[in-house]
Amino acid sequence: MSADIAALLQTIADEAIALTDRGAVADYIPALANVPPRQFGIAVATVDGALHRAGSADQAFSIQSISKLFALTLALQREGDDLWQRVGREPSGTPFNSLVLLERESGVPRNPFVNAGALVITDVLCHRYLQPERAVLEFVHRLLSRTSVAIDPQVARSERLHSDRNAAIAHFMRSFGNLRQEVAAILDAYCAQCAIAMSCAELARAALFLAADGVQPGAARVLQAADARRINALMLTCGAYDAAGDFAFRIGLPTKTGVGGGILAIVPGRMSICAWSPRLDATGNSIAAAAAIERFAATTGLSIFR
Ligand code: GLN
Repeated sequence: MSADIAALLQTIADEAIALTDRGAVADYIPALANVPPRQFGIAVATVDGALHRAGSADQAFSIQSISKLFALTLALQREGDDLWQRVGREPSGTPFNSLVLLERESGVPRNPFVNAGALVITDVLCHRYLQPERAVLEFVHRLLSRTSVAIDPQVARSERLHSDRNAAIAHFMRSFGNLRQEVAAILDAYCAQCAIAMSCAELARAALFLAADGVQPGAARVLQAADARRINALMLTCGAYDAAGDFAFRIGLPTKTGVGGGILAIVPGRMSICAWSPRLDATGNSIAAAAAIERFAATTGLSIFR
């Protein structure tokens, strides 16, 4: 299986390069518009400790919304089920940065992966930690057993300077009493957390606990098995926003995407996969990375629906 995975990743990387001219980089965060777009990387980490990589799998990129997974995990560790009073568990069917449901639903976001939901999670972390973005980063360091991962200050600043939309979402939720900290502090922490830079190899390794019933292989328990299952369920139904249904149809695995072009996928009990390529489709998901994970799942037959 190991040799097969390595060979398959190489084939996928060779083919994916042809897709890297489709779509557009996320230029609403100006610093991301400067990323050379014709890049592709993929890595697979298995629960028994193997790591396979192809293409630019060691190139760090902006993890953006993939950080919402780590923030949610940390908030769940601290708050437990009380968290679900303030954020829902339903797909939104709307873009990641939409405000449209918030008025009808009294400022309670549909799920923790749309921006509104992630801002509630950040509010929780702002209450618990003096430097919430450091708490998320240090959690990633613990998952990787090393401290080499960092926040890219330029990307953080660039997003913060262009965060009117997230500011609008946050103020609106605060008017319903669903945010407790000051909006400016929440946005500072949120933009910094989204600006964590990691490679496919690092992301695949860091997220392994989601494939291993909540225990990080070779390290400690991160979450109860039931909570790891629930996060996987949320990834399947909400991880790719208004493309989550299409992703479930095409890939059949829990995924979390980010506008930096990364996509993380979990094969429960087996492995985690991370693919990256900067250009996105209209739903804000990487075209080449999604195609690569689709191809990996189809070729290996790995799906949660088999
Ligand atoms: N930081 C980005 C934003 O809030 C994250 C969005 C994403 O990756 N989908 O717009």
